Amino acid sequence: MAPSRCPACDVDYLYGHEGRTYSRILYVEQPGRYDGGLYFTCPDCGYAFHRWPEGHRLHRIAQPFIDRCNADRAITTE
Ligand SMILES: [Zn+2]
Repeated sequence: MAPSRCPACDVDYLYGHEGRTYSRILYVEQPGRYDGGLYFTCPDCGYAFHRWPEGHRLHRIAQPFIDRCNADRAITTE
């Protein structure tokens, strides 16, 4: 279950369309690591954060990608 708000900027990802609820959250894939979303990013502020719980194999694999994404974000938002 994806979070409904950004942990960094607190924007609400959810919106309704024709009676259904959708999320603007972005699932980031890393080909060759996992066939699907490895972690999340915020479409508004670019913050990257975990999809998988701590201790999960994919949490460990996602960590360096998340760190790099947030380091790049820190530079571009300076
Ligand atoms: Zn955000």
